[in-house]
Amino acid sequence: MPKLASLLLLLPAIASVSSSSLRAQEFDKISVLLIDGQNNHNWKVTTPLMEQILEGSGRFAVDVATASGRGENSEPFSPEFSEYDVVVSNYNGQLWSEATQKAFEKYVASGGGFVSVHAADNSFPQWHAYNRMIGLGGWGGRSEKNGPYVRWKEDQQRFTRDLSPGRGGTHGKRVPFLVIVRDTDHPITAGLPKTFMQAADELYGKLRGPAENMHVLATGFSAPATGGTGEHEPLLMTIQFGEGRVFHTTLGHDDNAMKGLAFQVTLQRGVEWAATGTVKQPAVNGTKLTSDVPATRNPADVRPDEFSAIPDVMSKGWTTLFNGKDLSGWSQKNGTATYRVEKQMIVGKTAQGSPNSFMCTTSDYENFELTFEVNDDPGLNSGVQIRSLSKADFNNGRVHGPQVEIENAPGESGYLYSEGTGRGWITKQQPVKDAYQNGKWNRFVVRAKGDRIQTWVNGVAIADIVDAESSKKGFIGLQVHGIKRDAGPFEVRWRDIRVRELK
Ligand code: ZN
Repeated sequence: MPKLASLLLLLPAIASVSSSSLRAQEFDKISVLLIDGQNNHNWKVTTPLMEQILEGSGRFAVDVATASGRGENSEPFSPEFSEYDVVVSNYNGQLWSEATQKAFEKYVASGGGFVSVHAADNSFPQWHAYNRMIGLGGWGGRSEKNGPYVRWKEDQQRFTRDLSPGRGGTHGKRVPFLVIVRDTDHPITAGLPKTFMQAADELYGKLRGPAENMHVLATGFSAPATGGTGEHEPLLMTIQFGEGRVFHTTLGHDDNAMKGLAFQVTLQRGVEWAATGTVKQPAVNGTKLTSDVPATRNPADVRPDEFSAIPDVMSKGWTTLFNGKDLSGWSQKNGTATYRVEKQMIVGKTAQGSPNSFMCTTSDYENFELTFEVNDDPGLNSGVQIRSLSKADFNNGRVHGPQVEIENAPGESGYLYSEGTGRGWITKQQPVKDAYQNGKWNRFVVRAKGDRIQTWVNGVAIADIVDAESSKKGFIGLQVHGIKRDAGPFEVRWRDIRVRELK
C-alpha cells in the first residue's frame, strides 16, 4: 500500500511524461514498447489486447508507439527504443525512416529485446537486418532469395532447411491446432506441457528468411485437410541478433486467437525472456494449458499472479511451531544426530555414522507459508523438509519429500531437493543465485500451495516450481545431514519457526 500511495502522489508531477518506463522503475517491472500503426490485421483491436495480456500479469509496464499511417511521412516516428527493456511489434506496414531503422538495429544489436508477433513477420521484406532479427518471414514477395524454409521432419526427428524455389508465406483455414514443444529446456518453454492447443488461429507456413542464429522452440502441423502445407511449421522461435534476444511468435491473428491461453502464456514468457534472458513467471502446467481442447481466457481477465509477492513475515496469522523452551510438538525420525534447545534455538548436532536425521513436526501441513531463521556451520549440509512422509512400508520409514536446501555459500540454498525418493533436484533451470550469508542468521520463507512451491532466502526469490508429485500433506522436518567419517562435529541452528496455513 505505501508504494501505491507514493505513486499516486507522484502522478501529477509526471503526468506530462506519462512514461511507463518510469512506472517500470518504480515497481521493478519490465518496460515494454509496443509498436503498431499499420497492419493488414486489426491492430486497433489487438494492441489493447496485448497490453491487457502483458500489464494484467503485473509484470510489465507497456507504452504504445503508433507509427505514421499508410502513405504518411514516416519521419516523425522515432521512438526512444533505448528507454525500454523490450520492443514488441504489432506492425506490418511501410518502412520506417532510415534513422529509425538504424536506431532500431543499434538497439537490438546492443542488447535490447525484440518480440515479433504474427504479421510483424510480414513486414519489411527489403530491410535486411530486420529479416535477420526475425529469422523467418512471409509474404511481401519473399522467395528462395530470402532464405530457406525451415521445417521439423518427424521421420528424421530434426529440423531441415529447404532452399527449393517458392514463395514465402501461407496459411490454411483458421482452426485450433496443437503447439508441439521441440525444446523443453529453454526458459520460455521450460515447465510448459510438451503439447498444448492454441485457439483458432492462422498457422503460418512456408516462411522464409536468413534463419541465422535461430532456434525453434515449438512447431505446429499445418494440416492439408484445412488447406495447410502438410509440414511441421515453426511457431515459436528465438533469434540472437548481436547482443539482443529476439522472440518470434507466429501466433495471434486476431482477438479470438489472443483469447488462447497458448498465445497469452507464450507471449508473456517470450517478452520476459527477450527483455531479461530469464523467465521468472511460474510454469503453467497441463491442467491449465490443455492439449485436448484449447484453453481460453479473456485478456481483460488476466490478473497479477497471486503468488508474485513474498509472504510478509511481520503480518498477522502466523503460528509458532517452536516454543523456544522445549521440543514439544516435534519428534525425531531416522538418524541419531542430537537436537537440543538452547537460547530460543533448536540446535542440531551431527553424530558419527548416522544417516540423515530429522526433527519433525507432529502435525501435518499441506498448503502453507513457512518461515524460519537458520545458521549453519560451514561443511554441514542441511535442509528443511516440507510436505514430507515417513511410512513403514517405504524404505523402513525413511523420511522423504521436498526439502528446502540449506548450505553455506556458494551452494544451492533455497533450491528444492526430493529427499529420499531418488528423484534428485526438483529445482531445475534455476540460475545460480546465492543469497545465503555464511556465519549469519538467514531468513528463509517458503510458500507451498497446490502443486506450486516457492522459496526466498534473505528476501531473494530462489525457487518457484510447479511439481504435482510435491503436492502432498505432510510434516515439516529439520535435517541434520549424515557426515563423512572423521568430519565434524557440526551444528546447525534454527529459530523463529512459524507457519501460516493457506486455504
Ligand atoms: Zn493473420
